[in-house]
Amino acid sequence: MAENKVLNMQDEETVVDDVLRHVDAEEEFETEYRFFAGVKVPDSDEVLKDFEIREMTGADEESLQVNSRKNMNEARSINKLLERCIVRIGNLTPQTIGVDKWRELVRNIPVPDADYAILMIRRLSFGNDIVLTSTCPECGAGIKTSVPLSELEIKPYGGDTSHTATFTLRTGIIDKNGNAYKEGTLRLPTGVDREVLLPLYKQNMGKAKTLMLTRLCKFDGLKVVTEDMIRNLSVRDRDILTNLNKEMNDFGFDYNTEVYCEKCGTEYNSKFEDSSISFQ
Ligand SMILES: [Zn+2]
Repeated sequence: MAENKVLNMQDEETVVDDVLRHVDAEEEFETEYRFFAGVKVPDSDEVLKDFEIREMTGADEESLQVNSRKNMNEARSINKLLERCIVRIGNLTPQTIGVDKWRELVRNIPVPDADYAILMIRRLSFGNDIVLTSTCPECGAGIKTSVPLSELEIKPYGGDTSHTATFTLRTGIIDKNGNAYKEGTLRLPTGVDREVLLPLYKQNMGKAKTLMLTRLCKFDGLKVVTEDMIRNLSVRDRDILTNLNKEMNDFGFDYNTEVYCEKCGTEYNSKFEDSSISFQ
């Protein structure tokens, strides 16, 4: 176990070096990369990290536009694009495992890894700079900033191949007999979770948080976790879970970057949102 962990960390350092080396290159970008956490193969313990991408075509762009007009779910667009422009994960390809299994595999990619792959596809197709749109907090001006990917920081994945972390709550879930369930595991959210949760996030943050935790949590001793159980947790317990979730997902590109407003001279921090990543 300890040895695994060490190997894992070395792995991640290699990834970071790799990324920085590629980001510095001028025009030619590699097509082969490594995920940080990696994707779990459905119904198996296997975690795959190597992946290969191809450049976007006009057909990919068209598919994105059709998709975003029908329903404004950017998460769905991201998954669609990954499905098309990732051509290999480990030794699996859409040709070898079939379209349906491929779709399932791609939708299982943890969110920060999916965003990383999207940015690599974007860079291969459109170049190193991405455009960040933000609003100046001082004067309210709409600012477009061009940021080279090389200026974004990269954080290694700190977890293990289980893609889960354990938690202990203060009060926990109390059943009708008065038994308390305080311990369990939280897993990394994937592309499927993002697809399901994103529309809800736009409507009701609190509900989205409840559904997210319901999907990601398992409690020791409980077969099923329902939305009601998560809804009835204390705010403190919900915070423990939300903070753990945030911590677990803190890898890959750091989307916070300094923005300078030329209208009023203010410098502020802004963050790339999903929509800037998804080519819209
Ligand atoms: Zn300003």
